[in-house]
Amino acid sequence: CGIVGVLGLGPVQNLIVEALKRLEYRGYDSAGIACLENGKLSRRRASGKLRNLEERLAKEPLAGSTGIGHTRWATHGKATENNAHPHATDKIAVVHNGIIENFRELREELRAKGRHFASQTDSEVIAHLVTQSLDEGLSPIEAVAASLPRLKGAFAFAMIFAGEDNLLIGASQGAPLAVGFGEDDRAGEMFLGSDALALAPFTQQVAYLEDGDMVVLTHDSASFRDASGLPVERRRIRTQASA
Ligand code: GLU
Repeated sequence: CGIVGVLGLGPVQNLIVEALKRLEYRGYDSAGIACLENGKLSRRRASGKLRNLEERLAKEPLAGSTGIGHTRWATHGKATENNAHPHATDKIAVVHNGIIENFRELREELRAKGRHFASQTDSEVIAHLVTQSLDEGLSPIEAVAASLPRLKGAFAFAMIFAGEDNLLIGASQGAPLAVGFGEDDRAGEMFLGSDALALAPFTQQVAYLEDGDMVVLTHDSASFRDASGLPVERRRIRTQASA
């Protein structure tokens, strides 16, 4: 339901929670965050309100400066902690909005290749599809690009990669996703949000992905590709400050 991603200059846990709170009005049944800590993926998830996630984070904080967060409105699988996003493998973590319509076929295919699924969600196939490509030797960017044409349905997602603390990848197909560019004392920070409103306290400079786009973010670059994989420019616009 709500997606946030940050390539931060310092710890991003609180910033992600703050951004997720700005998406609460959309409704949700569970929430979660994943960060990279010393190159490794760590997750905290909780069913119910963001307060429950905050309580978990108070007990076990995440120190990473690269992270993603999600508020989930369950479509496939009950609203349990185990089905909450981010979904992860040892190599990637992903937060997803929307529905992967062909998830059953993809899950069977990936299970046949020895992949083990830990949730009842449609979303988890994204994590395994991309990991399968990484295991076959593709780079993170190639792995996401190779996976996108296989996903049917309307969706947006944000993904981070173990060992890659200067990389955040987003994709959008029939569901909104915006890039936010840090400015002034946040110069070098990069954001993803399913709604620019979520990013308003941190940036007013955004660029929306167009249908079928993928975006590769580093601290100093945002590279967009269209559905055919060709590099494209997406216009940066100013939103109204509403922090
Ligand atoms: N279909 C996904 C799930 O059930 C994502 C739902 C959402 O957009 O929050 O986990």
